[in-house]
Amino acid sequence: MFARFIIIALALVGAVGAAHGADFDAQTATQAYLDTVSGEARERSDAYFMGGYWLQLVDVIVALVIAFILLQSRFAKKLRDKMLKSLRWRWAAIMGFFAIYTLAVTVLGFPLSYYEEFMREHAYNLSNQSFMDWITENLKGLALGIIFGAPFALIFYTILRVAKRSWWMWGAGVSIFFLALMLFISPVYIAPIFNDYTPMEEGPLKARILAMADANGVPADNIYVFDTSRQSGRVTANVSGLLGTTRISLGDNLLTEGTDKEVEAVMGHELGHYVLGHSQSMMINFGLVLLAGFAFVNFTYPMVVRTMGKNWGIEGIDDIAGLPLLLALLSVFFLFATPVTNTIIRTNEAQADIFGLNVARAPDGFAAIAMKLASYRKLEPGPWEEIIFYDHPSGYARVAMSMRWKAAQLSIGATDLDPAIAPLAVSNTDE
Ligand SMILES: [Zn+2]
Repeated sequence: MFARFIIIALALVGAVGAAHGADFDAQTATQAYLDTVSGEARERSDAYFMGGYWLQLVDVIVALVIAFILLQSRFAKKLRDKMLKSLRWRWAAIMGFFAIYTLAVTVLGFPLSYYEEFMREHAYNLSNQSFMDWITENLKGLALGIIFGAPFALIFYTILRVAKRSWWMWGAGVSIFFLALMLFISPVYIAPIFNDYTPMEEGPLKARILAMADANGVPADNIYVFDTSRQSGRVTANVSGLLGTTRISLGDNLLTEGTDKEVEAVMGHELGHYVLGHSQSMMINFGLVLLAGFAFVNFTYPMVVRTMGKNWGIEGIDDIAGLPLLLALLSVFFLFATPVTNTIIRTNEAQADIFGLNVARAPDGFAAIAMKLASYRKLEPGPWEEIIFYDHPSGYARVAMSMRWKAAQLSIGATDLDPAIAPLAVSNTDE
Protein backbone atom coordinates (compact mmCIF):
# COMPACT_ATOMS: atom_id res chain seq x y z
CA MET A 1 0.00 0.00 0.00
CA PHE A 2 2.74 2.42 1.10
CA ALA A 3 5.01 1.39 -1.78
CA ARG A 4 2.20 1.98 -4.19
CA PHE A 5 1.64 5.47 -2.80
CA ILE A 6 5.32 6.24 -3.34
CA ILE A 7 5.14 5.04 -6.93
CA ILE A 8 2.12 7.27 -7.58
CA ALA A 9 3.83 10.22 -5.91
CA LEU A 10 6.96 9.72 -7.99
CA ALA A 11 4.89 9.48 -11.14
CA LEU A 12 3.19 12.74 -10.25
CA VAL A 13 6.48 14.50 -9.62
CA GLY A 14 7.71 13.13 -12.93
CA ALA A 15 4.62 14.38 -14.71
CA VAL A 16 4.93 17.86 -13.21
CA GLY A 17 8.60 17.99 -14.13
CA ALA A 18 7.94 16.85 -17.67
CA ALA A 19 5.17 19.38 -18.14
CA HIS A 20 7.45 22.10 -16.81
CA GLY A 21 10.21 20.88 -19.11
CA ALA A 22 7.97 21.00 -22.14
CA ASP A 23 6.93 24.56 -21.24
CA PHE A 24 10.46 25.77 -20.92
CA ASP A 25 12.14 27.20 -23.98
CA ALA A 26 15.87 27.84 -23.50
CA GLN A 27 16.05 30.44 -26.25
CA THR A 28 13.15 32.52 -24.95
CA ALA A 29 14.59 32.39 -21.42
CA THR A 30 18.02 33.44 -22.70
CA GLN A 31 16.53 36.40 -24.53
CA ALA A 32 14.55 37.40 -21.42
CA TYR A 33 17.81 37.64 -19.48
CA LEU A 34 19.59 39.60 -22.19
CA ASP A 35 16.68 42.04 -22.32
CA THR A 36 17.21 42.90 -18.65
CA VAL A 37 20.32 44.87 -19.62
CA SER A 38 19.28 47.31 -22.30
CA GLY A 39 19.36 50.94 -23.36
CA GLU A 40 21.99 53.11 -21.77
CA ALA A 41 23.37 50.38 -19.51
CA ARG A 42 23.98 48.16 -22.53
CA GLU A 43 25.56 50.94 -24.59
CA ARG A 44 27.87 51.89 -21.74
CA SER A 45 29.00 48.32 -21.14
CA ASP A 46 29.66 47.79 -24.88
CA ALA A 47 31.58 51.08 -25.11
CA TYR A 48 33.70 50.28 -22.05
CA PHE A 49 34.61 46.80 -23.22
CA MET A 50 35.25 47.67 -26.87
CA GLY A 51 37.36 50.66 -25.83
CA GLY A 52 39.51 48.04 -24.13
CA TYR A 53 40.29 46.44 -27.53
CA TRP A 54 41.96 49.65 -28.65
CA LEU A 55 43.72 50.08 -25.34
CA GLN A 56 45.42 46.71 -25.78
CA LEU A 57 46.90 48.02 -29.03
CA VAL A 58 47.71 51.43 -27.52
CA ASP A 59 49.48 49.73 -24.57
CA VAL A 60 51.82 47.87 -26.90
CA ILE A 61 52.47 50.93 -29.08
CA VAL A 62 53.31 53.03 -26.02
CA ALA A 63 55.57 50.24 -24.69
CA LEU A 64 57.39 50.21 -28.04
CA VAL A 65 57.76 54.00 -28.06
CA ILE A 66 59.16 53.94 -24.51
CA ALA A 67 61.61 51.17 -25.41
CA PHE A 68 62.67 53.14 -28.49
CA ILE A 69 63.25 56.30 -26.41
CA LEU A 70 65.35 54.40 -23.84
CA LEU A 71 67.46 52.80 -26.59
CA GLN A 72 67.76 55.69 -29.03
CA SER A 73 68.75 58.16 -26.27
CA ARG A 74 71.38 55.57 -25.23
CA PHE A 75 69.86 55.66 -21.74
CA ALA A 76 70.07 51.85 -21.58
CA LYS A 77 73.71 51.76 -22.69
CA LYS A 78 74.75 54.53 -20.30
CA LEU A 79 72.85 52.96 -17.42
CA ARG A 80 74.58 49.58 -17.99
CA ASP A 81 78.02 51.22 -18.16
CA LYS A 82 77.37 53.29 -15.06
CA MET A 83 76.08 50.31 -13.10
CA LEU A 84 79.05 48.13 -14.07
CA LYS A 85 81.46 50.90 -13.12
CA SER A 86 79.93 51.97 -9.82
CA LEU A 87 78.68 48.59 -8.53
CA ARG A 88 81.67 46.63 -9.80
CA TRP A 89 80.08 43.18 -9.50
CA ARG A 90 78.17 41.99 -12.54
CA TRP A 91 75.34 40.55 -10.44
CA ALA A 92 74.81 43.85 -8.64
CA ALA A 93 74.93 45.76 -11.93
CA ILE A 94 72.17 43.57 -13.42
CA MET A 95 69.89 44.04 -10.41
CA GLY A 96 70.63 47.77 -10.27
CA PHE A 97 69.95 48.12 -13.99
CA PHE A 98 66.65 46.29 -13.62
CA ALA A 99 65.50 48.48 -10.71
CA ILE A 100 66.27 51.79 -12.43
CA TYR A 101 64.95 50.61 -15.79
CA THR A 102 61.65 49.58 -14.12
CA LEU A 103 61.38 53.01 -12.47
CA ALA A 104 62.05 54.78 -15.78
CA VAL A 105 59.42 52.75 -17.64
CA THR A 106 56.88 53.39 -14.87
CA VAL A 107 57.47 57.15 -14.95
CA LEU A 108 57.27 57.34 -18.76
CA GLY A 109 54.17 55.15 -18.81
CA PHE A 110 52.45 57.03 -16.01
CA PRO A 111 50.11 59.21 -18.13
CA LEU A 112 48.69 56.15 -19.89
CA SER A 113 48.30 54.19 -16.63
CA TYR A 114 46.59 57.17 -15.05
CA TYR A 115 44.11 57.43 -17.90
CA GLU A 116 43.53 53.69 -18.20
CA GLU A 117 43.35 52.63 -14.57
CA PHE A 118 42.06 55.73 -12.85
CA MET A 119 40.31 58.28 -15.12
CA ARG A 120 38.60 55.81 -17.39
CA GLU A 121 37.51 53.49 -14.56
CA HIS A 122 35.95 56.47 -12.77
CA ALA A 123 34.31 57.72 -15.97
CA TYR A 124 32.53 54.35 -16.22
CA ASN A 125 31.75 54.27 -12.48
CA LEU A 126 33.84 51.15 -12.03
CA SER A 127 36.31 52.40 -9.44
CA ASN A 128 35.89 53.14 -5.73
CA GLN A 129 39.45 54.37 -5.29
CA SER A 130 40.58 57.86 -4.42
CA PHE A 131 43.67 59.12 -6.21
CA MET A 132 45.75 58.46 -3.07
CA ASP A 133 44.46 54.87 -2.82
CA TRP A 134 45.28 54.30 -6.45
CA ILE A 135 48.78 55.75 -6.20
CA THR A 136 49.50 53.81 -3.00
CA GLU A 137 48.42 50.58 -4.65
CA ASN A 138 50.61 51.33 -7.66
CA LEU A 139 53.64 52.12 -5.52
CA LYS A 140 53.19 48.82 -3.68
CA GLY A 141 53.03 47.07 -7.06
CA LEU A 142 56.16 48.87 -8.25
CA ALA A 143 58.08 47.94 -5.10
CA LEU A 144 57.05 44.29 -5.41
CA GLY A 145 57.96 44.33 -9.11
CA ILE A 146 61.49 45.42 -8.24
CA ILE A 147 61.89 43.18 -5.16
CA PHE A 148 60.89 40.05 -7.09
CA GLY A 149 61.94 41.18 -10.57
CA ALA A 150 65.57 42.08 -9.81
CA PRO A 151 66.66 38.63 -8.54
CA PHE A 152 64.74 37.05 -11.42
CA ALA A 153 66.56 39.31 -13.90
CA LEU A 154 69.85 38.20 -12.37
CA ILE A 155 69.04 34.49 -12.73
CA PHE A 156 67.63 35.04 -16.22
CA TYR A 157 70.66 36.93 -17.53
CA THR A 158 73.05 34.44 -15.94
CA ILE A 159 71.28 31.69 -17.84
CA LEU A 160 71.39 33.70 -21.09
CA ARG A 161 75.14 33.97 -20.66
CA VAL A 162 75.74 30.33 -19.87
CA ALA A 163 73.27 28.73 -22.29
CA LYS A 164 74.27 30.79 -25.34
CA ARG A 165 72.37 29.55 -28.45
CA SER A 166 69.78 27.53 -26.55
CA TRP A 167 69.06 30.48 -24.22
CA TRP A 168 65.43 30.74 -25.30
CA MET A 169 64.59 27.22 -24.11
CA TRP A 170 66.37 27.63 -20.78
CA GLY A 171 64.99 31.17 -20.46
CA ALA A 172 61.43 29.93 -20.97
CA GLY A 173 62.03 27.12 -18.49
CA VAL A 174 63.31 29.39 -15.73
CA SER A 175 60.52 31.93 -16.41
CA ILE A 176 57.87 29.25 -16.02
CA PHE A 177 59.47 28.04 -12.82
CA PHE A 178 59.50 31.62 -11.54
CA LEU A 179 55.84 32.15 -12.54
CA ALA A 180 54.91 28.96 -10.69
CA LEU A 181 56.79 30.18 -7.63
CA MET A 182 54.97 33.55 -7.76
CA LEU A 183 51.62 31.81 -8.16
CA PHE A 184 52.50 29.59 -5.18
CA ILE A 185 53.42 32.43 -2.81
CA SER A 186 50.97 35.09 -4.02
CA PRO A 187 47.84 34.11 -2.02
CA VAL A 188 49.88 33.94 1.19
CA TYR A 189 52.35 36.81 0.83
CA ILE A 190 51.28 39.13 -2.00
CA ALA A 191 47.47 39.29 -2.22
CA PRO A 192 47.14 40.31 1.49
CA ILE A 193 49.27 43.39 0.75
CA PHE A 194 46.43 44.71 -1.43
CA ASN A 195 43.29 43.32 0.26
CA ASP A 196 42.10 41.91 3.57
CA TYR A 197 41.22 38.23 3.47
CA THR A 198 38.90 36.91 6.18
CA PRO A 199 36.91 33.74 6.81
CA MET A 200 33.31 33.90 5.59
CA GLU A 201 30.57 34.74 8.09
CA GLU A 202 28.84 31.71 9.62
CA GLY A 203 25.33 30.99 8.36
CA PRO A 204 23.25 28.77 6.09
CA LEU A 205 24.91 30.14 2.93
CA LYS A 206 28.38 29.30 4.23
CA ALA A 207 27.14 25.88 5.29
CA ARG A 208 25.86 25.20 1.77
CA ILE A 209 29.10 26.41 0.17
CA LEU A 210 31.15 24.25 2.54
CA ALA A 211 28.94 21.27 1.75
CA MET A 212 29.53 21.81 -1.98
CA ALA A 213 33.27 22.16 -1.33
CA ASP A 214 33.36 19.07 0.86
CA ALA A 215 31.42 16.99 -1.66
CA ASN A 216 34.02 17.92 -4.29
CA GLY A 217 37.10 17.30 -2.21
CA VAL A 218 38.01 20.95 -1.58
CA PRO A 219 39.20 21.62 2.01
CA ALA A 220 36.98 24.10 3.88
CA ASP A 221 39.89 26.25 5.06
CA ASN A 222 40.60 27.19 1.45
CA ILE A 223 37.62 29.57 1.19
CA TYR A 224 38.03 33.28 1.94
CA VAL A 225 36.21 36.61 1.59
CA PHE A 226 38.21 39.66 0.49
CA ASP A 227 37.34 43.36 0.34
CA THR A 228 37.10 44.03 -3.40
CA SER A 229 34.81 46.95 -2.54
CA ARG A 230 38.04 48.77 -1.60
CA GLN A 231 38.90 48.89 -5.32
CA SER A 232 35.63 48.72 -7.23
CA GLY A 233 31.96 47.72 -7.35
CA ARG A 234 32.75 44.72 -9.53
CA VAL A 235 31.24 41.38 -8.64
CA THR A 236 34.11 38.93 -8.55
CA ALA A 237 35.59 35.73 -7.12
CA ASN A 238 38.70 33.77 -8.02
CA VAL A 239 40.90 30.77 -7.47
CA SER A 240 44.53 31.60 -6.73
CA GLY A 241 47.65 29.78 -5.69
CA LEU A 242 49.29 26.57 -6.80
CA LEU A 243 49.38 23.10 -5.25
CA GLY A 244 49.33 23.56 -1.45
CA THR A 245 48.35 27.24 -1.51
CA THR A 246 45.36 26.92 -3.87
CA ARG A 247 42.39 28.81 -2.43
CA ILE A 248 39.01 30.21 -3.44
CA SER A 249 38.29 33.85 -2.66
CA LEU A 250 34.93 35.62 -2.93
CA GLY A 251 34.80 39.38 -3.34
CA ASP A 252 32.63 41.12 -0.73
CA ASN A 253 30.62 42.80 -3.54
CA LEU A 254 29.38 39.37 -4.54
CA LEU A 255 28.02 38.79 -1.04
CA THR A 256 26.37 42.22 -0.73
CA GLU A 257 24.88 42.31 -4.23
CA GLY A 258 24.20 38.69 -5.08
CA THR A 259 21.34 36.53 -3.84
CA ASP A 260 22.29 33.30 -2.06
CA LYS A 261 21.62 31.32 -5.23
CA GLU A 262 23.83 33.66 -7.24
CA VAL A 263 26.66 33.27 -4.73
CA GLU A 264 26.27 29.49 -4.81
CA ALA A 265 26.33 29.53 -8.62
CA VAL A 266 29.60 31.51 -8.62
CA MET A 267 31.13 29.28 -5.95
CA GLY A 268 30.22 26.22 -8.01
CA HIS A 269 32.19 27.79 -10.87
CA GLU A 270 35.21 28.54 -8.66
CA LEU A 271 35.16 25.02 -7.23
CA GLY A 272 35.32 23.90 -10.86
CA HIS A 273 38.64 25.72 -11.39
CA TYR A 274 39.97 24.13 -8.22
CA VAL A 275 38.81 20.58 -8.86
CA LEU A 276 39.74 20.61 -12.56
CA GLY A 277 43.28 21.72 -11.64
CA HIS A 278 43.21 24.83 -13.81
CA SER A 279 46.11 26.56 -12.02
CA GLN A 280 48.34 23.64 -12.99
CA SER A 281 47.13 23.23 -16.57
CA MET A 282 47.42 27.00 -17.07
CA MET A 283 51.10 26.87 -16.08
CA ILE A 284 51.74 24.23 -18.74
CA ASN A 285 49.76 26.02 -21.46
CA PHE A 286 51.30 29.41 -20.74
CA GLY A 287 54.72 27.81 -20.54
CA LEU A 288 54.31 26.64 -24.14
CA VAL A 289 53.17 30.11 -25.27
CA LEU A 290 56.15 31.65 -23.49
CA LEU A 291 58.49 29.17 -25.18
CA ALA A 292 57.11 30.30 -28.56
CA GLY A 293 57.54 33.93 -27.44
CA PHE A 294 61.21 33.44 -26.59
CA ALA A 295 61.73 31.58 -29.88
CA PHE A 296 60.29 34.66 -31.61
CA VAL A 297 62.69 36.92 -29.67
CA ASN A 298 65.58 34.58 -30.50
CA PHE A 299 64.75 35.04 -34.17
CA THR A 300 64.07 38.81 -34.22
CA TYR A 301 66.49 40.21 -31.61
CA PRO A 302 69.68 39.61 -33.69
CA MET A 303 68.00 41.15 -36.77
CA VAL A 304 67.24 44.39 -34.92
CA VAL A 305 70.68 44.48 -33.28
CA ARG A 306 72.35 44.03 -36.68
CA THR A 307 70.74 47.24 -37.95
CA MET A 308 70.37 49.34 -34.80
CA GLY A 309 72.78 47.79 -32.28
CA LYS A 310 75.73 50.10 -32.98
CA ASN A 311 73.53 53.16 -32.72
CA TRP A 312 72.00 52.03 -29.44
CA GLY A 313 75.21 50.61 -27.97
CA ILE A 314 73.70 47.19 -27.28
CA GLU A 315 75.09 43.75 -28.11
CA GLY A 316 73.95 40.12 -27.86
CA ILE A 317 70.88 38.79 -26.07
CA ASP A 318 72.88 38.44 -22.81
CA ASP A 319 73.56 42.20 -22.69
CA ILE A 320 71.34 43.69 -19.96
CA ALA A 321 71.25 47.00 -21.90
CA GLY A 322 69.21 45.10 -24.52
CA LEU A 323 66.43 44.43 -21.99
CA PRO A 324 64.17 47.17 -23.46
CA LEU A 325 64.43 45.52 -26.88
CA LEU A 326 63.88 42.00 -25.51
CA LEU A 327 60.72 43.11 -23.69
CA ALA A 328 59.48 45.16 -26.65
CA LEU A 329 59.73 42.14 -28.95
CA LEU A 330 58.03 39.96 -26.35
CA SER A 331 55.15 42.44 -26.03
CA VAL A 332 54.63 42.40 -29.82
CA PHE A 333 54.54 38.59 -29.70
CA PHE A 334 51.99 38.58 -26.88
CA LEU A 335 49.78 41.08 -28.69
CA PHE A 336 49.53 38.71 -31.65
CA ALA A 337 49.16 35.73 -29.29
CA THR A 338 46.16 37.37 -27.57
CA PRO A 339 43.56 35.14 -29.29
CA VAL A 340 45.56 32.07 -28.20
CA THR A 341 46.05 33.14 -24.57
CA ASN A 342 42.42 34.32 -24.34
CA THR A 343 41.19 31.02 -25.76
CA ILE A 344 43.27 29.02 -23.28
CA ILE A 345 41.67 30.93 -20.39
CA ARG A 346 38.18 31.07 -21.90
CA THR A 347 38.15 27.31 -22.45
CA ASN A 348 38.94 26.74 -18.76
CA GLU A 349 36.24 29.25 -17.83
CA ALA A 350 33.63 27.43 -19.93
CA GLN A 351 34.61 24.15 -18.25
CA ALA A 352 34.24 25.76 -14.82
CA ASP A 353 30.84 27.14 -15.90
CA ILE A 354 29.51 23.65 -16.64
CA PHE A 355 31.07 22.24 -13.49
CA GLY A 356 29.40 25.03 -11.50
CA LEU A 357 25.98 24.31 -12.99
CA ASN A 358 26.31 20.62 -12.16
CA VAL A 359 27.39 21.35 -8.60
CA ALA A 360 25.22 24.33 -7.59
CA ARG A 361 22.23 23.44 -9.79
CA ALA A 362 21.32 27.11 -9.96
CA PRO A 363 21.08 27.96 -13.68
CA ASP A 364 19.02 31.07 -13.01
CA GLY A 365 21.42 32.26 -10.33
CA PHE A 366 24.30 31.84 -12.76
CA ALA A 367 22.41 33.60 -15.57
CA ALA A 368 21.62 36.52 -13.25
CA ILE A 369 25.29 36.83 -12.28
CA ALA A 370 26.29 36.72 -15.96
CA MET A 371 24.04 39.78 -16.42
CA LYS A 372 25.67 41.54 -13.48
CA LEU A 373 29.07 41.12 -15.13
CA ALA A 374 27.71 43.21 -18.01
CA SER A 375 28.83 46.26 -16.03
CA TYR A 376 32.28 45.64 -17.51
CA ARG A 377 31.96 43.01 -20.25
CA LYS A 378 30.02 43.37 -23.50
CA LEU A 379 27.11 40.90 -23.46
CA GLU A 380 26.68 39.87 -27.07
CA PRO A 381 29.87 39.79 -29.18
CA GLY A 382 30.22 38.27 -32.65
CA PRO A 383 31.88 34.81 -32.79
CA TRP A 384 35.30 36.10 -33.89
CA GLU A 385 35.14 38.97 -31.49
CA GLU A 386 34.66 36.46 -28.65
CA ILE A 387 37.57 34.26 -29.83
CA ILE A 388 39.97 37.20 -30.16
CA PHE A 389 39.09 39.45 -27.24
CA TYR A 390 37.28 37.42 -24.56
CA ASP A 391 39.13 35.72 -21.71
CA HIS A 392 35.76 34.59 -20.28
CA PRO A 393 32.68 33.36 -22.13
CA SER A 394 30.41 36.30 -23.02
CA GLY A 395 27.26 36.98 -21.02
CA TYR A 396 25.25 35.64 -23.94
CA ALA A 397 27.26 32.41 -24.08
CA ARG A 398 26.91 31.90 -20.34
CA VAL A 399 23.16 32.51 -20.19
CA ALA A 400 22.52 30.39 -23.27
CA MET A 401 24.51 27.56 -21.72
CA SER A 402 22.72 27.87 -18.36
CA MET A 403 19.31 27.81 -20.02
CA ARG A 404 20.23 24.85 -22.24
CA TRP A 405 21.43 23.03 -19.11
CA LYS A 406 18.17 23.93 -17.36
CA ALA A 407 16.06 22.70 -20.31
CA ALA A 408 17.93 19.38 -20.28
CA GLN A 409 17.44 19.01 -16.53
CA LEU A 410 13.74 19.83 -16.74
CA SER A 411 13.28 17.34 -19.56
CA ILE A 412 14.37 14.54 -17.22
CA GLY A 413 12.13 15.80 -14.45
CA ALA A 414 14.54 17.73 -12.22
CA THR A 415 12.62 19.50 -9.45
CA ASP A 416 15.47 20.88 -7.34
CA LEU A 417 16.59 23.83 -9.49
CA ASP A 418 16.57 27.41 -8.26
CA PRO A 419 13.45 29.46 -9.13
CA ALA A 420 13.45 31.36 -12.42
CA ILE A 421 14.32 35.04 -12.18
CA ALA A 422 13.89 36.33 -15.74
CA PRO A 423 12.07 38.25 -17.03
CA LEU A 424 12.01 40.22 -13.77
CA ALA A 425 14.38 43.17 -14.07
CA VAL A 426 17.88 42.32 -12.93
CA SER A 427 19.63 45.54 -12.14
CA ASN A 428 23.02 46.31 -13.61
CA THR A 429 25.68 46.60 -10.93
CA ASP A 430 26.83 50.04 -12.11
CA GLU A 431 26.34 52.41 -9.23
ZN1 LIG B 1 36.46 31.51 -13.62
